[in-house]
Amino acid sequence: MADYDVGFRGGRVFVGRDLLDVDLYTQGESIALLSQPGERQNTKRTIDVTGRIILPGIIDLHAHTRDPGYTHKEDFFTVSQAAAAGGVTTWVDMPNVEPPTTTVGLFEEKRARAAQTSLVDFGHFASGVNLEEIPKLAAAGVTGFKIFQVSGAYPHDPRLALNDEGKLLERFREIAKTGLPCVVHPFNQSLFDFFSAQAFAQGKPRNHVTFAEIYTREVVWESAITSLLSLQRESGVRLHVVHTHSARSLRLLRHAKSTGQNVTVEIDPKYFHLGKADLEEKGPQVCPAGFVVEDKERMEEIWRSFRDGTIDSIGSDHAPHTKEEVEKQRIDAWGAAMGNPQYDHYLSVFLNDMHQNKLSLVNLVCCFSENPARILGIYPRKGALLPGSDADLVVVDFDRERVLSNEGLYTKVQWSPYAGWKVKGMPVLTMVRGKIVAENGKVVGGPGYGKYIAGVPQRLQ
Ligand SMILES: [Zn+2]
Repeated sequence: MADYDVGFRGGRVFVGRDLLDVDLYTQGESIALLSQPGERQNTKRTIDVTGRIILPGIIDLHAHTRDPGYTHKEDFFTVSQAAAAGGVTTWVDMPNVEPPTTTVGLFEEKRARAAQTSLVDFGHFASGVNLEEIPKLAAAGVTGFKIFQVSGAYPHDPRLALNDEGKLLERFREIAKTGLPCVVHPFNQSLFDFFSAQAFAQGKPRNHVTFAEIYTREVVWESAITSLLSLQRESGVRLHVVHTHSARSLRLLRHAKSTGQNVTVEIDPKYFHLGKADLEEKGPQVCPAGFVVEDKERMEEIWRSFRDGTIDSIGSDHAPHTKEEVEKQRIDAWGAAMGNPQYDHYLSVFLNDMHQNKLSLVNLVCCFSENPARILGIYPRKGALLPGSDADLVVVDFDRERVLSNEGLYTKVQWSPYAGWKVKGMPVLTMVRGKIVAENGKVVGGPGYGKYIAGVPQRLQ
């Protein structure tokens, strides 16, 4: 009789803040033992991970699964396959689907479908726009709430957008009572509209380049963050702001956190990886990124914010559209779909950053796993490799080099904004609650293994 199910032997395991030379054993869905190398245990399967490192699985608080309603772009199964391939063991998705998740009934339908389909664990941020639905959605088990300040063409569905500060405060107060996190896409829509009108009057084309330039302007984000921080202070809501690629916003957030405000900060990879060269080469596949990378001050602030903990989490903003859909940005970016798929190449891109000394392994694990688990209130069940934790992990070959390509992707749209990139470091095995879901670049396992992660109320204020 074997004592353990799977033993990972000979590798280095991320525990606490260090890589330790220990062997890791799983039993059922959990990590059962970390033991000194060489101590032989009885296992059903032993995997030699000599020269490899084992990290906690990625908990992604920013997925767009497109399911229901836009399943020609992605669905719960394909998104979870791409997630598994990219080292993501839990995704939490957003309400901008069709119909959008604004009521308990729609949430329950969506959760039931995902439970039948997702290969990895999952949660859902329901819309926080309907005041009277907020307590009901919380009681029904939503992972948290999402409010968009941006409004426009899909994916920025006007039905899910709120800009009026009185209405925002009212919703923040209601969400604060639930003890669940409130994710906000900060955006000063009226300033964006003003700059857009100005650009059109100057005869600038309505294409993706003009759009990206205006969309990422510092003041559009900074002014929104200023107001959101005031409303957070007034309401006590657990505010989680996303897309924080503006230097001035990061400084405001650093200050707010230093005064003890209950705010957490997420950044998504496209803004600080994809620059003007990518925008020129791949056009709308990159938009609205393209300008942040070129701004030295912003990039310095971003890397500093990783190092000093101003940035709490990395969210993928995995946002697939077909190539044909994003290509429409060349004619009218204001009326076209925007966003790009991230999952298949997600971890590789960041391992490459580590090789370039932009990020440390501790930064990466904190932002990918530990802090997202804390934000959801599920640490250390998830987000850590400790005895008793869920066996959610990624085995990484830190030194393997490869050229990323559009071949063999799991995302339904079959393209990646990183195709053509030469990177060092890749995930070679992903495990969710003791079950291997990807190995050697291939996803294994069928639909429906994933379990739902319900919201855990936290009332600290
Ligand atoms: Zn998003």
